[in-house]
Amino acid sequence: MSKKTQCPYRGCNGSIASGAEECGAKGHPVVVCKSCKKTGERTANRPLSRYCRICAQRLPEREEWSYPRGSAHGGGLAKVDFGERDGLDLGSHPVFTVKLEAACAGLLWLDGVLCAIDQLGQATFSAPTAGLTGAKVSLGDGAAPRSALVAGGLLVGGRRVTAYPAGQVLEEGAAIAHRWHLDLGGISVGPPFQVGDQVLVLVGDQDSRWKLVHVTRLDQEAPSSKVMASGRGTVTTLCRVSQDVCFLCEEKGAVHRHTLERTGERWKHQQVQIPTAQGIHGDVPLAAVGRMLVAIIGPQRSLWQIDPSHPRLERRLITQGTRDFCVAGFTRGLALLGGEISFFGDREAPGSGDSRPTSSPVSLSKRGALVGLEDGRVRWIPFDGSGSTRSYRLAALEATTVATAPITAICAARKHLAFGNADGTVCVYRMA
Ligand SMILES: [Zn+2]
Ligand SMILES: [Zn+2]
Repeated sequence: MSKKTQCPYRGCNGSIASGAEECGAKGHPVVVCKSCKKTGERTANRPLSRYCRICAQRLPEREEWSYPRGSAHGGGLAKVDFGERDGLDLGSHPVFTVKLEAACAGLLWLDGVLCAIDQLGQATFSAPTAGLTGAKVSLGDGAAPRSALVAGGLLVGGRRVTAYPAGQVLEEGAAIAHRWHLDLGGISVGPPFQVGDQVLVLVGDQDSRWKLVHVTRLDQEAPSSKVMASGRGTVTTLCRVSQDVCFLCEEKGAVHRHTLERTGERWKHQQVQIPTAQGIHGDVPLAAVGRMLVAIIGPQRSLWQIDPSHPRLERRLITQGTRDFCVAGFTRGLALLGGEISFFGDREAPGSGDSRPTSSPVSLSKRGALVGLEDGRVRWIPFDGSGSTRSYRLAALEATTVATAPITAICAARKHLAFGNADGTVCVYRMA
């Protein structure tokens, strides 16, 4: 009964099969409108679209997050389809490669669009399923850790938030002009944080003052912004805890948890002191699993789990010397490499000490975590408790001179894994 769903790309006669996220002819990534579906129609929209081109309804929130999901920043799991396999199989060749002009500093993925940002701040968009390299956009220094790919486009933090429109990102050679800038009067701590059609930005300045900026009207020529809360001290990044958003702030040895509760269009700001916590490190990830927070605290860079629902904000030491970490499935509390959390310290990575981790770790479904290594390999740490880690060399690079370049970024999205290295080569693999 349902009509053929036409590919939204000009000059493409492909159609989108039921349940597919790309066209059958050229592999163009699409977002199918679920509102239209109710009326028996299915409309395929271009990726990163905020609204359906036919019914003008807002397209559903995407499964992928604006941060690399599965990392500490993104929280939660990168949903990866392993097919029937038990573990990770990177034996096959990559479906797509991109060469950047400098070391890969960050990878973002949404709606089948890959945004690879190099160390010089140039973003290269591509559609791996369509074998398409799109626009290159200059974002400026330090853009990678402060960027988020969102429905509607790319948002980049720093001294100001800049929004780039989504429309032409997959058109090769397209000159993309920003849609708007918003001056922050400080530097954003982590990327702009999208909550529905609004954005929160935590801004710090040199006198260790911070403010939380609330940005709305993202689709307009100029957005609206107002300061929702401010204070003094060192702050972590923002993180989502169920429907709320939260961050930690330390001033004079006292650590507070700040929570923003959203009811409709309004936000309520609350703060609670975490007893006897030591100092936090600024600009470090804060992660949440369920209602539990995971943070790096104190001079030993200790990884703690904090239960904000406990009357005394109960906390437990997980490990020390943590440089970065990722969180994974959470059902019975956090367990060290017991299937639910994995972490990587400065001195050693679990399973071996033969090569230093050089990328942020990413957890894949409930199967395990991946981290990039200094020697150009990727380490797979399964969460089955077997402790049998495995390191892979990326097949595409095996016989090349860049095979030993450190892996600097990893991102995962459903059927794809992407790896970027210090040579600026990005390889995309398709799972199952
Ligand atoms: Zn197409
Ligand atoms: Zn629609």
